[in-house]
Amino acid sequence: MPEATGSSQSSDRRSDATPAMRQYLEQKQQAGDALLLFRMGDFYETFYEDAKIASRVLGIVLTARSKGENAIPLAGIPHHALDSYLHKLVAAGYRVAISEQVEDPRLAKGVVKREILRVVTPGTLTDDTLLDEKSDNILASLSVGGRQAGLAVVELASGRFQVFDLRPEDVVDELVRQRPAEILIEDAGIDAATQPAARLAEEVRSLCGSSVVRRPPHEFAPYNAERLLHDHFGVTTLAGFGFQGLTPGVCAAGCAIAYLRETQKTSLGHIIRTQPHRPADFLCLDHSTFRSLEIERTLRTGDREGSLLHAVDRTVHPAGARGLRRWLCTPLIRAGEIVARQDAVAALAADDSTRAGVRGALRSMSDVERIAARIALRRATPRDLAGLARTLAQLPVLRGWLEGFSPAQLASLRDALGGLEALSERLDRAIRPDAPLTTREGGIITDGYDAELDRLRAIGRDGQSWLAEYQRREAQSTGIASLKVGFNKVFGYYIEISNTFRDRAPAHYVRKQTVKNAERYITDELKTYETEVLSAEERAHEREFLLFEQVRDAAGEQLEALQRVADAVGRLDVLAGLAEVAVAHRYVRPELVDGGELDIRDGRHPVLDQTLRDGFVPNDCRLDADDARVLIITGPNMAGKSTYIRQTALLVLLAQTGSFVPAAAMRFTPVDRLFARVGASDEITRGQSTFMVEMTEAANILNNATDRSLVVLDEIGRGTSTFDGLSLAWAITEHLANVVRCRTLVATHYHELTELAGLLAGVKNCNVAVREWPGDDRREDRIIFLHKIVPGGTDKSYGMHVARLADVPRPVVERSREILDELQKGFSRESRTTGLSRRRTRRPQQLELFEDPLDVLARQLRAVDVNELTPLDALQKIREWQAKLGR
Ligand code: ADP
Repeated sequence: MPEATGSSQSSDRRSDATPAMRQYLEQKQQAGDALLLFRMGDFYETFYEDAKIASRVLGIVLTARSKGENAIPLAGIPHHALDSYLHKLVAAGYRVAISEQVEDPRLAKGVVKREILRVVTPGTLTDDTLLDEKSDNILASLSVGGRQAGLAVVELASGRFQVFDLRPEDVVDELVRQRPAEILIEDAGIDAATQPAARLAEEVRSLCGSSVVRRPPHEFAPYNAERLLHDHFGVTTLAGFGFQGLTPGVCAAGCAIAYLRETQKTSLGHIIRTQPHRPADFLCLDHSTFRSLEIERTLRTGDREGSLLHAVDRTVHPAGARGLRRWLCTPLIRAGEIVARQDAVAALAADDSTRAGVRGALRSMSDVERIAARIALRRATPRDLAGLARTLAQLPVLRGWLEGFSPAQLASLRDALGGLEALSERLDRAIRPDAPLTTREGGIITDGYDAELDRLRAIGRDGQSWLAEYQRREAQSTGIASLKVGFNKVFGYYIEISNTFRDRAPAHYVRKQTVKNAERYITDELKTYETEVLSAEERAHEREFLLFEQVRDAAGEQLEALQRVADAVGRLDVLAGLAEVAVAHRYVRPELVDGGELDIRDGRHPVLDQTLRDGFVPNDCRLDADDARVLIITGPNMAGKSTYIRQTALLVLLAQTGSFVPAAAMRFTPVDRLFARVGASDEITRGQSTFMVEMTEAANILNNATDRSLVVLDEIGRGTSTFDGLSLAWAITEHLANVVRCRTLVATHYHELTELAGLLAGVKNCNVAVREWPGDDRREDRIIFLHKIVPGGTDKSYGMHVARLADVPRPVVERSREILDELQKGFSRESRTTGLSRRRTRRPQQLELFEDPLDVLARQLRAVDVNELTPLDALQKIREWQAKLGR
């Protein structure tokens, strides 16, 4: 977290400061804890603490303004490099206030007027250079009061604005999915750290790296928030958006709007509507499930590569890439909505040429969603408008490709792509396809669009021929054939005569500059010409800027239509991308059924399927609401248990986004919640023990899963002693099978759990097949993991084999084999003394796990035949019993 840059010392410094520094200090006060970049000529300067931070974060030289006692630390960046430096500062978590000169320094009387024109913060980025094109840049605002929490999630770069009213315990789940760059919470003064909102925000910060910003409490006050939202949306009641009363969500939304107004200092016209989010409309994924299933990044490295998103992302447009991520984070639950998407994917998958045509058209389109946002904020560049022109011109092509497609989704997308023909025509007429990034140097507006601009340009153009003519005339009159007319920025136009002929320069030539081998002169005629040409050029640039602004404002009147088009472009790209991956990797359309069934034939893990290709062994999975609610999967480590259960969860998740799935066939009933407890993820950084995390996650599942949920548990109970762990795993599975009655997959190395299948209805066993080759004198035992899931339990671990495969030194493996032998011998000795065969002891021994130790003791005591016992045996028994009681 970056340190606050502070403004407290400003007032002491102000008294003896120069006027410019006084202005700086006043603005620093306004900027609060944002770093202030203060425009002075060609530089943005930072002073005092800000300068030290800038120098450290940006690697720029720290110098001083003034000398000696009054020296002020100073570090500056050239104005043209602002973007790249801003990028670094924001990435480091700083908020940056930018103070610009708002009057022409040449016309200024006294100090140039400056104003903070915007504050750039991590969650409010809109510039292409600062944004990642494939990720949303989210600002969240969080308000927690008692048993209720409110959340507003805004993306300034698109205008999307969602409001949530939810339980405080669901806040982290939602925020991890949204991955906000910045979170606003109420500044609760000295008790700040203990406030619920602060604790939740801190948890999200540790998981997603979000910056947390404290805002004044009044910004969250219900009536303030309501007033602001009414004002922003131009409504007198929020009921029209679906809000019921002044909920915490509304309070959070009010603060978000206040913050955007304060930082952007411009219209937020593209935030056109908002809607309360209804969690019941979507598949619920808690944050550990989200992370465990590696939906958007891998657990171990945090990379995109290796995630589900990476495996199924064949989008060709940035809005599609961002849209796909949103779809995977919020899968659907309603059969009708899922089928509608499937229909569209099916139609696009079945028609290769249309799919290629659609993707080709999308590929050449700009990011309309973000351009529309910049248009609203009056930050769109000429290049943005050129991109918009190109994109709008492609829309008829795209619509043409969709002509004749019947799925409702595609038909409505085709309709959404219409309605911007007039704007398209105007942009086409006005904006040059190669328009530059900046507005200062012309080259924006096409010839023939505006008569006045054409006239000014003609003066410049005619100037070229005038100059050529002038050069010819002067060469002739002086008799110097090599005489040249040239231009440079410092001296303007000049006549250049090489030293050989300089004596022949006429008297009215005024010498201006001496260069190597030549002299440069000006004449009155040239000077007059220069003034006219240069002022024409300047006036042409001004004219272009004006025309550019007019066209930009015309586009600004179509924000709603632009957003509709942008949305349609994104959706179409996601659907076409899903169709593409379905065709490329032989995915099938899942069939929706009622009744809680899940039947996957030859399913493949979406990621490993692509990395291992034909080496991946497909597997079936059959679960239903009655006989096969719970599957217990046993098998040695590395056999593929975890892959199998994750694959099942991922296929359900993919199916509920409307995607096809990597399988030969799939039938399923949509689930309401998906829970995955996979492996012991490294949560040390969050200050919790791994076992504590495991149990918290288990508790979450037990408390929240319903009979319509899917739960996958990987090695539950591993983080504690064997008996503890086994007991917990047993009881958790039992509860899920009997009480919750959800569909459950349990991968476990506790073979004992397989006994549940015989004890509980609805529980079935399967295991991962392993082929063994017994060793001989020359070769050790060998095993091969077949990765095939087969019915029935297993009781072998093959730990030694895996250790050997992993290159554990041979002596260690051999020694462990000896120890294992010893342990097994000990086990059978004990079995003999109690007079029970090993096979028959298994059940009672396991049952003992769930009995009170005193009951066990009483039973054993009763069973002892004193006549058969030697004194030594008796002592030994007493010692065992004491051990059982924990002595
Ligand atoms: P376990 O959970 O049983 O310890 P994993 O599921 O982690 O085992 O699988 C270990 C490795 O085995 C995986 O990384 C993968 O390379 C390979 N594997 C797993 N399942 C399959 C499969 N169905 N086909 C091919 N390879 C697989």
